[in-house]
Amino acid sequence: MAVPRADAQGAEALAELVEWQRARRVQFPIIAAHPDLAYLDSAATAQKPQAVLDAVHAYLTTSNANAGRGTYPWANRTTSLVEQTRDRVKRFLQDPAPQRSSVHFTSGATEGLRTIARDWLPGLLADGDEIVVPVADHEANIAPWLEARRQLARQGVHIDVRPMPYQRASGDYDHTALAELAGHRTRFVAVTHVHHVYGGDMNVHRIRRAVGPDAVICLDAAQSVGHLPVSMAELDVDFAVFSGHKAMALPGTGAIWARQERGPRFGPAGWEGTPNTVGIASLAAALDWLDAAGTDRIERWTVALAARFTEGLRHLGAYEILGCQSSLAADSPVQRRQGIVTFRHRAVDSGDLGFILFSHGFMVRSDQHCQGSAGERTGSVRVSLHVHNTVEETDRLLEVLATLG
Ligand code: PMP
Repeated sequence: MAVPRADAQGAEALAELVEWQRARRVQFPIIAAHPDLAYLDSAATAQKPQAVLDAVHAYLTTSNANAGRGTYPWANRTTSLVEQTRDRVKRFLQDPAPQRSSVHFTSGATEGLRTIARDWLPGLLADGDEIVVPVADHEANIAPWLEARRQLARQGVHIDVRPMPYQRASGDYDHTALAELAGHRTRFVAVTHVHHVYGGDMNVHRIRRAVGPDAVICLDAAQSVGHLPVSMAELDVDFAVFSGHKAMALPGTGAIWARQERGPRFGPAGWEGTPNTVGIASLAAALDWLDAAGTDRIERWTVALAARFTEGLRHLGAYEILGCQSSLAADSPVQRRQGIVTFRHRAVDSGDLGFILFSHGFMVRSDQHCQGSAGERTGSVRVSLHVHNTVEETDRLLEVLATLG
């Protein structure tokens, strides 16, 4: 049976959601103030809606104090803000058993992954164990695991690092090869939910099937949280890590969600110090905003917009689209593109293309996107979409790209 494509379904979604989208777009002050510019770099960091700016202002003008220390009202309010935001993160992630999980605030996904690698992973592993590392994903999801191996080797514990197998053409993981590679010594597998270059949903639910019920899976959800429903009830993973700033909160905010079932209980080692209370206030407001907007609708909108843009780009012969080639429907059994489209001009350098596009008002990312060493060898231009982006913006971008063909 032919799999329905998202560009056919997408036209329907774009028509259905257009009023909803307009009402969301106007809530971003920086977007509303710059109608001549198109922000197409949400995978690097997301813009903030007014509700988040208001929450930051309200917190700093009514309650600013340290958390977990004082006994006066501002301090008490700050302590409960931090505790309530832990629960808010669990609800946002559709945690099916919140009494058995924990949430730890970090400065972002990088610190989250590094903390797990430094404070928890060594307690799981014994000499001769294996871990799987996604070597063509973001460097933040590679370096910490390799560093953990080096640290363990210094203590005489030797860990075998297996590179995650990929299907090169699509940038997807190769689940069949992974199933062959994973054995009873495979204790830990690091994966990514949505690839920051290739744009594909990495079908994480298939990783569990490939590696069996006992391996710990750590999910880098930096590009999925805030963009689509991310459900711990559906994904059988042990850790999920994300960056608050990519989910519309302030920079310097992020979280580790830990399920605590396989392996030792997770807890960052040592004294944690003062939390980023302002960032946590912004995170609570951002998650409220995202839930009210509906992450399912945000996903439908950005997937449909990316599908339309990808189809347009495919018709311009001068461009090579990287990674995920398919913009497939939500129920497709194969890899599906989210709101990230990365490409190269066959003759124009990607850095130059970035400058040319900005001269037309488009803010895109053009470099190697912090991809691991097994990733792309040369730069590319990444267009990453969010709820405030419009059909007019991506169609106008296609017109400009067509003039460079
Ligand atoms: N993982 C992925 C997939 C990312 O895209 C990024 C940010 N580009 C990170 C991790 C690191 O996030 P941060 O810089 O917010 O720590």
